[in-house]
Amino acid sequence: MTRLAKLQELGLTPSNSLQFLTPDSSELRYTPEMVIRVKETRQIRRLMRLANEYRFPVTPRGGGSGLAGGCLPVRGGVVLSLENMNRIHSVHTEDLVAEVQPGTLTKALRDAARNKGLFFPPDPAGMDQSTIGGNVATNAGGPSCLKYGTTKDYVLGLEVVLPSGRLIKTGTRTRKGVVGYDLTQLFAGSEGTLGIITGLILKLIPFPEAVAATSAVFNDLPLAMRAVTKILTSGHLPSAIEFLDAKCLSLVNDLLPFKVPGEKSTLLIIEIDGAPNQIKHEIDVIGKICENVGATHLLPAPDNEERERIWEMRRQVSLRIHDNSALYIPEDVAVPLGKIPALVAELPKFEAEYGLEIYAFGHAGDGNIHLNITAQSRDNMTRVEKGVRNILSRVIQMGGTISGEHGIGEAKKRYLPMELSAESIRLQTEIKNVFDPNMVLNPGKIFPE
Ligand SMILES: Cc1cc2nc3c(=O)[nH]c(=O)nc-3n(C[C@H](O)[C@H](O)[C@H](O)COP(=O)(O)OP(=O)(O)OC[C@H]3O[C@@H](n4cnc5c(N)ncnc54)[C@H](O)[C@@H]3O)c2cc1C
Repeated sequence: MTRLAKLQELGLTPSNSLQFLTPDSSELRYTPEMVIRVKETRQIRRLMRLANEYRFPVTPRGGGSGLAGGCLPVRGGVVLSLENMNRIHSVHTEDLVAEVQPGTLTKALRDAARNKGLFFPPDPAGMDQSTIGGNVATNAGGPSCLKYGTTKDYVLGLEVVLPSGRLIKTGTRTRKGVVGYDLTQLFAGSEGTLGIITGLILKLIPFPEAVAATSAVFNDLPLAMRAVTKILTSGHLPSAIEFLDAKCLSLVNDLLPFKVPGEKSTLLIIEIDGAPNQIKHEIDVIGKICENVGATHLLPAPDNEERERIWEMRRQVSLRIHDNSALYIPEDVAVPLGKIPALVAELPKFEAEYGLEIYAFGHAGDGNIHLNITAQSRDNMTRVEKGVRNILSRVIQMGGTISGEHGIGEAKKRYLPMELSAESIRLQTEIKNVFDPNMVLNPGKIFPE
C-alpha cells in the first residue's frame, strides 16, 4: 500500500494548498510532498505512528508567521497544519487559567481572556497570524516581556503527541508544581522538534485597569538608554520600553508629529499599565525623568487613539524596511541592557565594510534589538553572510545571544556553534534522539548538520 493510500485509510486527508508554497515569514522556500490539516489529536497520533513505520518527516505548522523557517519542510514529507485545532475550551475565572487548542490565534486568546477581565500578556507583534502552539514552540515574546515575561511563563501544562505517536500530559493546572523534571518548559522553545503540542493550560492574570504611554525624542541612543536606566532604577516597571534609531525614524517621517531633529535622534516609546490614578501620575513622572536626562521632545499619548497611532508608526517601520530592500535579513539579537548603545554605535562600521544598511529598533527594556539587515542587491551574498556572522560574533562577545525571540529553526542553525559549546550541542542532540530516534519530527532544524 502506498503512503498516500495508508494515510487515507487512517482518515488523514491530504490537502495541497498554495499557502504552503509561500512558506513562513522568513525568506526560505521549501515545498512539502503533502499537507495535512487535522482537527483531532488522534489523527496526529496515527500520522506519527505511520511516519515511524515509513520513516517520513512531519513538520508541525501553526500560523506560519515564524521568521526562522521553523515550520518549513526542509526534508520534504508532510506539513502538519494545526490551524483547524483552534478551540478555546474554557477561560476559567476562578482558577485564572485558559484551556485551548494549539491552533488558537494569539489575538483570539488575548481577546477571550480580556472579555472575562483577564489578561494573557505575551504580545508578539505577529499575533493576528501566530497561533498559541507556535508561540509556545518558539517561546515568543513582545514589548510586554519587560514587565510580564515571555510565553513560557504562562504555560502551566501541555498535552503533547510525542514523535512516536504516544501522548503525554505535562505540568498541572496549579500555579506551582515541582514534581519531576519540568517537561513543560523543555517543550517550550523546542521549535516543534520534540513533540506536537495538542492542548495547553495557560496562566492568566487580572487585566490591567488602564494603560498610558508617552514617547520621548533624544539626540542620540546613549542618552535614550540613560533615560531607560533612570526609569528602571527609580522604581518604575513599564509594560514596554521600545526604541527606534534615527534610520528607522527617517523611514516614517510622514507619520511623526515632529521633524526628526538630528542624524542620531532616537525615539523611546514607554507604556505603563495599572490603576488609572496611579498610572496618570507615573507617566508624568517618567516624562519628567526623560526631560531631565535630555529629551528634546515629549509626546504623551493620553488616550487609546494616540497610543494606537504610536504603535502603528512602529509597525510601519518594519513594513517599510522590508518593502525598500532587495535583501532583508531580520536578526533579533539580545545584549545586556548596558551594551545596547555600544552595539548600535558599531553598526555603521559593519555597514561600510559589508555594503549593508542596518535599521535597529527593539525592546530597549530587555536588550532585544531587531537588527534589520538589508542590502540593495543579492549579488554578493558571501559578503553579506560574512557581515552577518561578524555582527553576531560581536553580539556574543558583548555577552549577548543571537536570538532573543524568533528562534533558530532553519535560518540560523549555521550560527548555533558560535554561541553554544560543542558539549552543549551534543547534549541537546542526545535529548532530541531520546524523543525522536527515527528523526521523523521536524528533522534538520536547530542543530547544524
Ligand atoms: C509581522 C511579524 C511580527 C512578529 N513579531 C514577533 C514578536 O514580536 N515576537 C516574537 O517572538 N515573534 C514575532 N514574530 C515571529 C512569529 O510570529 C513567532 O515566532 C510565532 O510564535 C510563530 O507562531 P506560528 O503559529 O506562526 O508558528 P509557525 O511559524 O507556524 O511555526 C513556528 C515553529 O513552531 C512550531 N510549531 C507550530 N505549532 C506547533 C505545535 N502545535 N506544536 C509543536 N510545534 C509547533 C513549528 O514547527 C515551527 O518550528 C513575528 C512575525 C511576524 C510575521
